[in-house]
Amino acid sequence: MAAAMPDHHLHGNFDRCPACVLQQEEFVRRWGRSPSARFGRRRAEIECQLCDGSGHLPLSVAEIVRRTVAVARVHHWGLPA
Ligand SMILES: [Zn+2]
Repeated sequence: MAAAMPDHHLHGNFDRCPACVLQQEEFVRRWGRSPSARFGRRRAEIECQLCDGSGHLPLSVAEIVRRTVAVARVHHWGLPA
């Protein structure tokens, strides 16, 4: 039986799409505010071939576990990073 994939919309289960970040930074540089502030949430969607406009790049289960353990080492167990 295959394990369920983690919800990639949850905090820590994705990286922000660098292409969308660049587009948003350019928009703010040009217009002085974010696309959602200028047009509202519905029209703020940015076309992106990397993430299909979601703004999220899902992480693999192994990467989520690796990052979680790295944070626990430092903040929970007090071990060096
Ligand atoms: Zn994107």
